[in-house]
Amino acid sequence: MHALSIKTFRALGLAILLLTLGACSVNPVTGKKELAWMSEAWEVQTGRQYYSGQQQAGGGNYTLDPELTRYVKQVGNKVAQHAARKHLPYDFVVLNDSTPNAWALPGGKIAVNRGLLTELNNEAELAAVLAHEVVHADARHSAQSQEVGTLIAGGQMLATVMVANSDSNSAALQQGVALGALYGQTRYSRSRELEADLYGMQYMRKAGYDPQAAVSLQETFVRLSESRQQDFFSTLFASHPPSMARVEANRATAASLAPGGVLGEQSFASATAALRRRQPAYNAASEAGEALAKKDYQNALSLAERAISMEPREGRFHELRGIALSRMNRTQDAMSAYNRAISLDPNYFSPLLRRGLLKHQLNSFSEAERDLKASIKLAPTEIAYVKLGAISEQRGNVCPQAFNYYREAFVAGGQRNAELQNKLVALQSNCQPQAR
Ligand SMILES: [Zn+2]
Repeated sequence: MHALSIKTFRALGLAILLLTLGACSVNPVTGKKELAWMSEAWEVQTGRQYYSGQQQAGGGNYTLDPELTRYVKQVGNKVAQHAARKHLPYDFVVLNDSTPNAWALPGGKIAVNRGLLTELNNEAELAAVLAHEVVHADARHSAQSQEVGTLIAGGQMLATVMVANSDSNSAALQQGVALGALYGQTRYSRSRELEADLYGMQYMRKAGYDPQAAVSLQETFVRLSESRQQDFFSTLFASHPPSMARVEANRATAASLAPGGVLGEQSFASATAALRRRQPAYNAASEAGEALAKKDYQNALSLAERAISMEPREGRFHELRGIALSRMNRTQDAMSAYNRAISLDPNYFSPLLRRGLLKHQLNSFSEAERDLKASIKLAPTEIAYVKLGAISEQRGNVCPQAFNYYREAFVAGGQRNAELQNKLVALQSNCQPQAR
């Protein structure tokens, strides 16, 4: 049944695509004529729909420092005021992730990782990053990108959106994780990157910033992309490839703009002071993550505890500690660590999911169910649906409940896809009447 639905959605996607084809319009930023895949209403709706799931998938909000988020929003809004479509519902958030990255959803929803902020030297460089992302939204780059076009043509986005509107209450957030690959890793073409740099520099200059910061920013990126840290930066550089050509282009753009503008070194230093102070704690946490990957749980535990001793209010550190303890079969201690992580940041899906899985392992099914459902509300994952399906099955509620959970797990996508397909096919004949 499911495979059939996907096919139907695909056909629908193609039909809609064909209807949209030929709808030529003028790009609001460049003034060039181009093919418009989707309307502005679609951009705004898509951005709103995927925003929170994308934030969850990208590490969750950086809640420890609301002042920093306010600062980033303020700088972002300053440059967005000069966008060609300044009426878009722009928003800016800081994500709790050490990877240097930034992204924009259609309709102007923009995120910057904590790990990128620590690589910047002044407010004007931050303005350059945010203005660049503003242009990606303003000039409809991702709505125009071939990858999105292909996905729409394949009906995948439509399938996800339609499933999201189906019976399951969790589905409003189907989006984020299912489409995680789509926006976080949208690869813009060279010409889009140059365009985002060019117009971004115009917006930042109009906002009062020294456009020279876009040159120094690009130089930093080129240097980092050539350094040993390349792997660490690969996400950012895959979606926004740095190059000497961009440095040169930005230099020429800066020379063509009105001289002056501020760098804002002082304001940036004070806004990011707490973040920089916490950096050693995040470094210890990164090492704890590496130790976990190497199954060196004792070391992971000490590193997580070192991070906690430096910053006890960071929920991610307690979660890491919980993972290490759980791998060492210190289940009750792991549970306490997850409790702490959840109480410090109740709006991040990951510790809820881990606590739910641990409770499932301990056969506390009702409590597991509550956590798993709460995690799904924030970000749907294959594993949460699989365990909810197993709990339903165990209670004898195969049709429609377990079947529906397994179907959601299949849609969320992941390692168990083939296994789930077999399961769904096996259950299909029993469940079909009820599942409709
Ligand atoms: Zn870019």
